[in-house]
Amino acid sequence: MKSRWKWVIYAVLGCLAQCAPVPSSEPAGCLPTDWCYVDDVAPSVRVDLKYTGNDNFVGRPIAGYTTGKRAILRRDAAEALARAAALLQPQGYGLLVWDAYRPAMAMKDFRAWSRTPDDRMKSKFYPHISKQGIYDGKYIGDTSEHSWGIAVDITLVHLKDGREVDMGGHHDLLDVSSATESPLITAEQRENRLRLRHAMQKAGFRNYSKEWWHYFLTDSAPHFTYSFPLKDDLLPCASR
Ligand SMILES: [Zn+2]
Repeated sequence: MKSRWKWVIYAVLGCLAQCAPVPSSEPAGCLPTDWCYVDDVAPSVRVDLKYTGNDNFVGRPIAGYTTGKRAILRRDAAEALARAAALLQPQGYGLLVWDAYRPAMAMKDFRAWSRTPDDRMKSKFYPHISKQGIYDGKYIGDTSEHSWGIAVDITLVHLKDGREVDMGGHHDLLDVSSATESPLITAEQRENRLRLRHAMQKAGFRNYSKEWWHYFLTDSAPHFTYSFPLKDDLLPCASR
């Protein structure tokens, strides 16, 4: 009996962490209340959304990313990003966002791709695991904090010339070497990862320890899963 209750509690806690409800009225052509474009709130943060192009583990634009290139976040996450950028600026570093809000339809696209035999991006993005291993290793799930508007995939750039800082791997290198504190990288690369983590943590984010680039806002606000496609000219839903 005792252990059965334990599993009930685990199930509830697991669902609180992963089963964010979908809002009853999904906005299709407007920004949800309290969401914003990252460049409106954190203009110094650079953006290069990897899922809008071919340089990602699928090798083509992902569903939901074909109609816009501006990063979108819940406003409190974008404000936290601005705080992180301000902390890094005196050290000579800036931020580059690779992914922010991710429509739930993109997660479905990933899962559908995982069931196909297409492995053309394997050598660059998942050299040591299978496509099923991407899910088994928890690099990707069927839901994501990205769809709640509170997560970013992010790296450091040198402010003086815009070059990306050497972090010992690229976005979505789905490999053990991408663990933030991996022993498989150089001391300097680890230092760079920890510099990013320090600033992001101070600003209110938490890192996913298996992916040095993935951060999500730590807060108690309710989370909702969204699936509206990216567009660069969305107006706030409230003003429609
Ligand atoms: Zn991520």
